[in-house]
Amino acid sequence: LAKNAGKNRFHLFDPESDRKAQQHRHYIDRVRLALEQGELVLHYQPKVDLRDGRLVGVEALVRWQHPEKGLLPPSEFLPHIQGSNLEQPLGEWVIRTALAQATQWLQDGLQLQMGVNISASHLVQVDFCDKLAAALSVQPQLPPESLELEVLETAAFEDINAAGAVLRRCQALGVRFALDDFGTGYSSLTYLRKLPVDTLKIDQSFVRHMLTDSEDRGIVESVIRLASAFNREVIAEGVETLDIGAALLGMGCHLAQGYGVAKPMPAAALAPWAAQWRQQARWRDLATIAGE
Ligand code: C2E
Ligand code: MG
Ligand code: MG
Ligand code: MG
Repeated sequence: LAKNAGKNRFHLFDPESDRKAQQHRHYIDRVRLALEQGELVLHYQPKVDLRDGRLVGVEALVRWQHPEKGLLPPSEFLPHIQGSNLEQPLGEWVIRTALAQATQWLQDGLQLQMGVNISASHLVQVDFCDKLAAALSVQPQLPPESLELEVLETAAFEDINAAGAVLRRCQALGVRFALDDFGTGYSSLTYLRKLPVDTLKIDQSFVRHMLTDSEDRGIVESVIRLASAFNREVIAEGVETLDIGAALLGMGCHLAQGYGVAKPMPAAALAPWAAQWRQQARWRDLATIAGE
């Protein structure tokens, strides 16, 4: 009982939950070490304009280059640190690293939008905008408009009006916002109404089967119409084939991201990929396919 006195004062000692709590703390410490030792890396997935195939930007996606287990996707470690005090430093590292990379590409002649995923609990920190402004000031050549923060509609946005205020303050810096996985939340329409996001990202679960599932197609069409009615940009994620790209273009969705264009890749692979992508007629000529 004494051992547990701190947190769960009124609970009897339970060896099983004690072991789990210890494991959880151990895991958070391990990810903190990974961050400090440079084992976390960002991969970048292209976003393209379906009308002309132009590469317009990338989304930064974190991975853990684990010394024994290899390259781990975010689903393997982000859930473990959710709600911990590691979310903020990790998020700040992602922002700094992505901005530095965007500046590097700009200097190399590649001007790209940079999408960065932000956890809701990080976004609502009181100093979020100030720290964001500081991170942007480290990269003075980079237009703040090139940063687009992607946020999920989640329960952590309990105070949606407060979240809206944070968005507006950051937007005053020039930074843009996207609602990620749009359509999968409990109250997507409320979020859309109350959060001044610039872009809706149609969730891949609707996009992937939209050619064969008429309900999914209906949802995709509705989100595109919603975006237009609310004067927001719209991008489809999970675009795995050329045919889906052509269908989206026909429906009025001009931006796409997905394995059909490219998988997320290390920073060093992007410029070679972009050079090769420019040679490819297939996606550039989608407008012709869609118009047929
Ligand atoms: P997300 O932001 O919705 O990112 C899209 C995810 O879908 C990525 O998975 C991407 O690799 C995957 N994807 C893209 N196109 C396709 C496709 O055509 N088919 C399929 N099957 N998958 C596709 P990833 O990198 O494993 O990331 C998963 C989630 O983890 C992200 O979803 C995002 O919510 C979160 N995440 C990733 N990086 C960060 C980060 O730096 N910070 C935070 N807070 N969350 C992150
Ligand atoms: Mg995202
Ligand atoms: Mg998404
Ligand atoms: Mg997702």
